Amino acid sequence: MLRLLHLRRTPRWIAVAIVFVFGLSCIVAITQLLNRIVLLDSNYGKSLSSKLGSDNAVSPSKPAATPATSHVPDAHDEFVAMADDQPQLEKATFIMLVRNSEVHDARSSIRYVEDRFNKNFHYPWIFLNDRPFSDEFIRMTRSLVSGNATYGQIPKEAWSMPDWVDRQKARECMKGMANRNILYGGSESYRHMCRFFSGFFWRHELLADYEYYWRVEPNTQLYCDLTYDPFTFMRENNKTYGFTINLLEFASTIESLWPTVQNFSSEHPEYIHPNNSLDFIVDDHKNITEGSYNNCHYWSNFEIASLKFFRSQAYRDFFDALDQTGGFYYERWGDAPVHSLAVSIMLDKEEIHWFYDIGYRHHPFTHCPEPREEFHDSGKCYCDPRQNFDRNSYSCTKQYRRMRGDKGFPEHVPRISQSVLNRIERSKNTKQFRSD
Ligand code: GDP
Ligand code: MN
Repeated sequence: MLRLLHLRRTPRWIAVAIVFVFGLSCIVAITQLLNRIVLLDSNYGKSLSSKLGSDNAVSPSKPAATPATSHVPDAHDEFVAMADDQPQLEKATFIMLVRNSEVHDARSSIRYVEDRFNKNFHYPWIFLNDRPFSDEFIRMTRSLVSGNATYGQIPKEAWSMPDWVDRQKARECMKGMANRNILYGGSESYRHMCRFFSGFFWRHELLADYEYYWRVEPNTQLYCDLTYDPFTFMRENNKTYGFTINLLEFASTIESLWPTVQNFSSEHPEYIHPNNSLDFIVDDHKNITEGSYNNCHYWSNFEIASLKFFRSQAYRDFFDALDQTGGFYYERWGDAPVHSLAVSIMLDKEEIHWFYDIGYRHHPFTHCPEPREEFHDSGKCYCDPRQNFDRNSYSCTKQYRRMRGDKGFPEHVPRISQSVLNRIERSKNTKQFRSD
C-alpha cells in the first residue's frame, strides 16, 4: 500500500495517518449509504404494512404512524425535510363520523382526500361510530389510508338525550317538525349526531393527543390539489376555524337558538371577543343584544379547526348553556350554526379562515375556486366554476365579505414551499423505485 502511494521518502507516521483518514471516510460514506437504504426500506415497509392492514384493529390513541412532532419552524426546516425525508407533521388528524353501512361513501371521501393531499403527508385518520365498527368497514377503509387509522366507539352519554330533557315533550316536538316536513325533523339519531358534534367529538379519547382536526364526511369530493399543509398554515397564521362553504340555515330548526346565545353573551361578557365577527351573523351593524340572527353559518361537514378552542372553558360553558335548554331535541339545532355562532362571537375575526382554494362538494352544494389562471389553467382544480355556490342567493359569501372587508376574497393562499415540492418529487421517485 505504501509503495502504491509512492510514499517511500515520506515519514512513515504521515503515511499511516493518510491511510487512517482515508479508511475512516470510507466507513462514514458506507454508513450513510446504509442508513439511506434502511430509511427507504422502512418507509416502504410502513406504507406496505398500512396497506396490508397489519396494525391493530383498534389501536390506542397516539398520533400517527409518522412522527407527529409539534415544532416551531425555523430556517433549518427545508434542510431537515430534505435530509431525512420525513414530513414535519402537525398534531393533527382527520376525523370521520360514519355508519358501517356508509363504507363505500366513506371510501370515496378517503380516496379524494388521499389523492388531493394526504398521499404526500400521511396524516392519521380517526373513524367514530355510535356502534362498533364492523371488520369489513375496518378492512375496507384501512386499505385506502396512507397514515395510521384508528376506530372508536362513541360513549353512550355523548350520543343520547341528557336526563333533563323531557322525553314526552321531545317526542311531540319531533312529530310536529316531521309533520311540517322539516329536514330530519322527526329523526332522533340526527339530533344525537348534531349534539355530538357540538359538545363531544373533541372530548373523545382518540383525539386526546391532537391539536387540529379536519372533518371529513362520507360521500364528499375534493377538486383541487392541496400542495401545502393546511394544519401548518393554521398554526403559523394563528387560525382557529377554517371552512369552505357558508350558507343560510333553515330558521325553523333553530327558533330559540339565538335568544339562548344572547342570554349566554349577557351572562358571560368576558367571553365576547372585542374583534369578533358579529358582522357575519347579524345585519345592520347591531350588537348581540339588539341584533337578530341572519341564519348565516359555516357548513360544518367540512372543517379544519383547532381542538384547543372547543376544549376551552369558554366553549364548554357555551355548549353547556345551550345543552341545558334541551334545544338540541325540542328543536333541531345543527352543529353547524352552533359552531358558527360560537366562533363568530368568541374568536378574533382574524382567526377564521376561508379555505377558498379547496374545491369541495357535499351534496347539493359545490365550492369551486373561480380565478381561471391560478386554479384551472394551472391544472390544480377540475371543478366547474359555474357551479360555484358562493354566488347562490343561499350563500352567505356577501355577509362574510362584509365582515372581512378587503380580505374576504380570495383568502390568502399559501405558496407551495420548496420542501413540499421536494417531497412530492421524491415520492414520485420512490414509486418508480418500488415498481422497478
Ligand atoms: P347531513 O350532511 O346534514 O345531511 O347529514 P348526514 O346524514 O350526512 O350526517 C352527518 C354525519 O354524521 C355523516 O358523517 C354521517 O355519516 C354521520 N351520521 C349521521 N347519523 C349517524 C348515525 O346514526 N350513526 C353514525 N355512526 N353516524 C351518523
Ligand atoms: Mn352529510
